[in-house]
Amino acid sequence: MARLMSFALTETPLMTGAKDVTRRLGFRDAKVDEWFQAVRKAMGLRKGEQVTRLCMVQMRAVSFEPLEAITPDEVRREGFPEMTPPEFVSMFCAAHRAKRCRPDTEVTRLAFVSTARTIIHVLANGLALCGKAGPPGELWPAAHRWVSFEDPGAHHANCTRCVEALLAMRVRLARPFEEYRRHASQS
Ligand SMILES: [Zn+2]
Repeated sequence: MARLMSFALTETPLMTGAKDVTRRLGFRDAKVDEWFQAVRKAMGLRKGEQVTRLCMVQMRAVSFEPLEAITPDEVRREGFPEMTPPEFVSMFCAAHRAKRCRPDTEVTRLAFVSTARTIIHVLANGLALCGKAGPPGELWPAAHRWVSFEDPGAHHANCTRCVEALLAMRVRLARPFEEYRRHASQS
C-alpha cells in the first residue's frame, strides 16, 4: 500500500491541480516515480477515525534545500499564490514549530503529479454560480466540490463558468482572480 501524505493545509489547491510542489521535513527517502496516497489528515487521528483519501500523487523530483531558498514561483507552486517567500517561510516554521524548523532548516522538496481532477464551484446562497444544482453539501458528486463565495480559498475555484459569473458580479477582485482572467483571455 502506498504511504500516506497529508495535505491538511493545502487540500483545495491540491485538488484543483494548482499545487504540484510540496516541502516536507520528512520524506527524505521518497523516490522519483513513487506513488503516495494523499489524505486530509494522516497524524493525530482518534481511535477508529478514518483518513479521508483525496487523490494519488506520484513524485517527479526529490531534492533538498534550505527552506529559505524558496522563490516566488515555488511559493505559487506550493499553492499559496497570495504569499511572499518570507511569509511562506514563517508560516511553514510556525506549522512545524514542534520540530524546531527554522528558515535555514534543510527541507525535502517534492514535485509531483496528481490524479485530482476535481471541479471546484463557487457557492452563493446554496447554489453554484454556474447554475449547477444538486443535493446539498457532502452529497455532491465526488468530482465536484465548492467553496463559498466569501471563503478565503475562493480563488482556487476552477469551474470556468462559476469564476466568470463571479467576475461578472463585479465582486471586489482578489489578485488571483485577476490572474485567472488574464490567463483566460490569453487562451
Ligand atoms: Zn460551477
